[in-house]
Amino acid sequence: MLNSAHAHHADVVIVGAGVSGLAAAHHLVAAGVTVIVLEGAADAGGRMATETVDGFRLDRIGQFLNTAYTEPARTPGLEGLVLKTFAPGALVHSDGRTLRAGALTPARALTSGSLDQARIGAALARLAALPEERLLARPERTAHAALSSSRLGTTLRPLLAALLRDPALTTSSRVADLALRTFARGRLAVPEGGAATLPGLLAAALPPGTVRTGVRVRSVATNLVTTEEHGDFSCRSAVLATGARAAAELLPGLRVPAFHPVTVIHHATTTPLPWDGSLLLDGDPDWPVAHTAVMSAVDPTRAPAGRSLVTTTVLGPPPPTRTVASRLARLYETATRDWELLAVHHTREAVPAMPPGQDTRRTVRVLAGLYVCGDHRDTNTVEGALRSARRAAAAVLRDFGIPVPTAPEATLPVAA
Ligand SMILES: Cc1cc2nc3c(=O)[nH]c(=O)nc-3n(C[C@H](O)[C@H](O)[C@H](O)COP(=O)(O)OP(=O)(O)OC[C@H]3O[C@@H](n4cnc5c(N)ncnc54)[C@H](O)[C@@H]3O)c2cc1C
Repeated sequence: MLNSAHAHHADVVIVGAGVSGLAAAHHLVAAGVTVIVLEGAADAGGRMATETVDGFRLDRIGQFLNTAYTEPARTPGLEGLVLKTFAPGALVHSDGRTLRAGALTPARALTSGSLDQARIGAALARLAALPEERLLARPERTAHAALSSSRLGTTLRPLLAALLRDPALTTSSRVADLALRTFARGRLAVPEGGAATLPGLLAAALPPGTVRTGVRVRSVATNLVTTEEHGDFSCRSAVLATGARAAAELLPGLRVPAFHPVTVIHHATTTPLPWDGSLLLDGDPDWPVAHTAVMSAVDPTRAPAGRSLVTTTVLGPPPPTRTVASRLARLYETATRDWELLAVHHTREAVPAMPPGQDTRRTVRVLAGLYVCGDHRDTNTVEGALRSARRAAAAVLRDFGIPVPTAPEATLPVAA
């Protein structure tokens, strides 16, 4: 049991136990700094949440990571993370035909008989080889404007919309290029056991008593964090690791960005599905589905034996369930009448928008003693949230006069 003074003081108090707050805590603890993480919700994890329904593991956010993400391997505490991978590339359904984006070399794509497939293979291979600095130095406009002048627009549009969670493609073309580059360099993947596994590993590997859940923070200053019902916490520095809106409420000078809404729909079926393990993208703008996958085939821990879990993402508000079911029947070429709807999760402010003009490495140091991290300070991904955490922790350590350790570049275990 912690005594009261110890329980309410640390070198650094972090507000928010999403992946960014938990990762920042790890970087600081690894450097010998004492940390308390205060989380308003009942559980740590933030947006990376998974619920269990009838033996199914349902991610609230239906997201995918990428084996080319470098931050998970640089984050202490994630050594045990296992990624389950999709088949290489993605299948795009558009105009009554199906094209594979990525995975095929341009030469193999050509022998498959599709010139568009070969062009996409060549474009992705070029992007994969480009250093990030070269990419970020390109002229910037919206991804929509950049695609309008490309003959590959029809195929790349649904892929980019899915990667950016932005159906109108208002995102910066540089951010879009970064997302395509990551897609081309790695494989889409999900954490084994559900999205919540990742923050769960981080939380479990912190010293006991570090993460305090059910503690909502009301105000933040460099040396004092005040909570709604759990008193004050004193510190030498505070790190705000909430989402963008909560950060701006606690620190009114911060800008509130626009957000992209996302709906994730989970179905259960006993019917065997003809599916090759790739993410299926719907390129028909008349239908609401953005992408869908047989999640239990990627990660068998997500469904009970004999049943399949199909997870579908809509980039917007929830559409009528019958519309989704009828589109899924077309995409999977099977009747979906008997599929059981397990859950519909809508997140109105799923990810912050990243329009042209926004730095992908926004400052994390507000002033000496006050820092901000999260996906609104970097790219709006798990990779961005983790990188912003590493940057924020490094800024704290520099201000404390502690040498910043070099993060390891280990590789993550990947289970196909
Ligand atoms: C539907 C959806 C789909 C996504 N798809 C992808 C994808 O495909 N690939 C990808 O890489 N990323 C994806 N993301 C984004 C990814 O989930 C986020 O970037 C990442 O989880 C953000 O982590 P975070 O720690 O910055 O913020 P959060 O996870 O939001 O954590 C912030 C925490 O702060 C807590 N908090 C807030 N206010 C207070 C307060 N006053 N006091 C105490 N605690 C507080 C919150 O409860 C929360 O736990 C998706 C997100 C959503 C919602």
